Amino acid sequence: MNYNIPFNKPYLTGKETEYIESAVKSGKISGNGFFTKKCQTFFEERYGFNKCLLTTSCTDALEMAAILIDTQPGDEIIMPSYTFVSTANAFVLRGAKIVFADSLANNPNIDADSIEELITSKTKAIVPVHYAGVGCDMDKIMTLANKYNLFVIEDAAQAIDNYYTFKNGETKPLGSIGHLSAFSFHETKNIISGEGGMLVINDKQFENRSEIIWEKGTNRSAFFRGETDKYGWVDHGSSFLPSEIIAAFLWAQLENLDDIQKRRKFLWSSYFESLNVFAKTVGIGIPEIPAHMNNAHMFYLVCENLEQRSGIIEYLKSKNILSVFHYLSLHSSPFYSEKHDGRILPESDRYTDTLMRLPLYYELSDSDIGKISQFIKESLK
Ligand SMILES: *Cc1c(COP(=O)(O)O)cnc(C)c1O
Repeated sequence: MNYNIPFNKPYLTGKETEYIESAVKSGKISGNGFFTKKCQTFFEERYGFNKCLLTTSCTDALEMAAILIDTQPGDEIIMPSYTFVSTANAFVLRGAKIVFADSLANNPNIDADSIEELITSKTKAIVPVHYAGVGCDMDKIMTLANKYNLFVIEDAAQAIDNYYTFKNGETKPLGSIGHLSAFSFHETKNIISGEGGMLVINDKQFENRSEIIWEKGTNRSAFFRGETDKYGWVDHGSSFLPSEIIAAFLWAQLENLDDIQKRRKFLWSSYFESLNVFAKTVGIGIPEIPAHMNNAHMFYLVCENLEQRSGIIEYLKSKNILSVFHYLSLHSSPFYSEKHDGRILPESDRYTDTLMRLPLYYELSDSDIGKISQFIKESLK
């Protein structure tokens, strides 16, 4: 049998075009309409998020967060080096200096114990990235934020429908813990709209201003609610809201969130069962994620070294199966290495060289996973 397994395949629930058509027919296709409100309310009700605003991407949501905390030139923002460029760009665009932290040895999340020594009088925020959707150590991060009066902005791009349990036993959805949080609906994420994202405003001091920044610096949202009799330019801002066409697509996905998550979790477990024992015998690390902390965003392997990873990726490619490596440490990127303070971040560099992601999408079958796992084993013979 001839395989052809892409790394990702966007899943359509079947209602996307119907809802888009209904948005188009309604005559209201710009933003902040029926479907936008439906999606925002869904998130607020299901996860108890204080206030949600759909954006055109997670990148945009992070930029809104950088504006909301009033990022100024010279401010320092602490984040992991092993992350996507958007996490850093949002703050770099406003003149901030990024202070990169290392990842943990047992997963790519920020090493929360390394944060305190990076804090200075210029530090303004910590941006934890929930890698593979798995929660960072929010106990330690929120404690530091309170102690030093810092903002916490969760990069929850991959963390939809996942939870974090604090040491005191309290469980909260990821994205509801920091002052602000950013989600992504890019087609590679669990829930998609092509491009798309959402800003979650948990800290009430940002509620009003977030709407203004979202709507080009105007009080248009308040005007349409009848709270003011005219609308005008009241602050700086930009156009961060998606059209109703995007929101209509997203709504079709949200209606099927439970089904999508169930399928992804099944596939994730299937990988785990086929690879867990074998991986250990060849020095490959496999994510050990308790079920209640796993939203099945990604199944990854941490190889022993770069050669081993390249060998597996090449072998799978020869079988028409696409697996991919992930981030390149931002502290050693062409754009930022000159600006970085020279600290060595060994875990971040290790994930850069050794982490690989396996195909994981709704339409993948159990037998596909069996095949992929078998080829991985073969590649190491
Ligand atoms: C996908 C992703 C982003 C960017 O999301 P977009 O919606 O594509 O802008 C940012 N941060 C992380 C950690 C991501 O995985």
